[in-house]
Amino acid sequence: MPQLVDVQNMCRWINHHGVEKLIAGIQSYIEEDFVRWESFDKIPRVASHTPIGVIELMPTSDSNEYAFKYVNGHPSNPTRGYQTVTAFGVLADVDNGYPTFEAEMTLLTALRTAATSAMAAKYLARKESEVMAMIGAGSQSEFQALGFRAALGIERVRIFDIDPDAMEKFRRNIEPLGIEVYMAASVEDAVEGADIITTCTADKAQNTILDYSLIRPGVHLNGVGGDCPGKTELDARILDDATVFVEFPPQTRIEGEIQNKDDDFEVVELWKVIAGKHEGRTSDEEITLFDSVGFAIEDFSALRYLRDSVAGTEFQEFIDLVADPEDPKDLFSLTTNVLTPL
Ligand code: NAD
Repeated sequence: MPQLVDVQNMCRWINHHGVEKLIAGIQSYIEEDFVRWESFDKIPRVASHTPIGVIELMPTSDSNEYAFKYVNGHPSNPTRGYQTVTAFGVLADVDNGYPTFEAEMTLLTALRTAATSAMAAKYLARKESEVMAMIGAGSQSEFQALGFRAALGIERVRIFDIDPDAMEKFRRNIEPLGIEVYMAASVEDAVEGADIITTCTADKAQNTILDYSLIRPGVHLNGVGGDCPGKTELDARILDDATVFVEFPPQTRIEGEIQNKDDDFEVVELWKVIAGKHEGRTSDEEITLFDSVGFAIEDFSALRYLRDSVAGTEFQEFIDLVADPEDPKDLFSLTTNVLTPL
């Protein structure tokens, strides 16, 4: 029977281990899977757009396991009392096609996005980086901050959001965990002296959250919020000066910051850096940009990590998801064997 991690068990699992430890663990699985990138089936995610949001399916598989994530992105949701991003996901056995594992992925997506960002920064940011500017203090923000502490030891975050309540929420959540938080008055103020700049805002528009004039040599940019057609965060001129690292180019050219550039705009595939096939940062002056959109292999890795971590523990349940008659040709037998009449 497939295993299940529902919301309650996901919360208990995270509480038990702590966010930073789990981000580090998921990161190690993502690194492992990025190294064997070429053994995966890959397609850009399947997106269903409306004027106010998107619903996406993100499938991938290796020769043993198949995974998909269902995820939405509705930037105006918080004003209506809903979250911008929610998700769930499934692992299945390639051999017989049966689902083996199902999990809530709203929290798991926040962990895996932070893990991927932190992994990229480990290879692309300057080693002596100490300060991160964080633009956008929504659902992902605390996870990003903790991911960067786990991977790079970042202990100082300069936060800015157009919503002062979101900034206050970030400070309230993060300061007690020992990270120094500076509440910036503007984007300009936030990026002052920052070694790393993370943009993680939600708005279905081609925004200029970061102006070209604010970019200093040597900075690493972690662009998380531009992840959908017509939804970007950076002054496009920044991309001309930066070395741009992406997950899966056919998807990022549709969804990432590079959607504002020609189809042959030069990018480096992040997996090649992780696998030692391409250089990461080459000098202290280089401007590096991780144009993150989120790719299916990261969800495959996160589901794998969760499945392995909860195996045999109290955080895992079973779900009767597959109708499985004794005689595989007699599905009909189950229709006459209903225990509780409807
Ligand atoms: P959220 O709605 O919880 O938070 C977004 C925050 O951005 C809000 O607090 C909002 O006030 C702020 N904001 C909007 N416009 C701004 C501006 N001009 N300047 C400063 N702040 C601004 O959303 P979230 O769940 O934190 O997600 C943030 C973004 O990250 C979304 O666009 C989402 O689609 C994206 N995302 C990307 C990945 C990935 O893998 N790349 C994964 C998850 C989410």
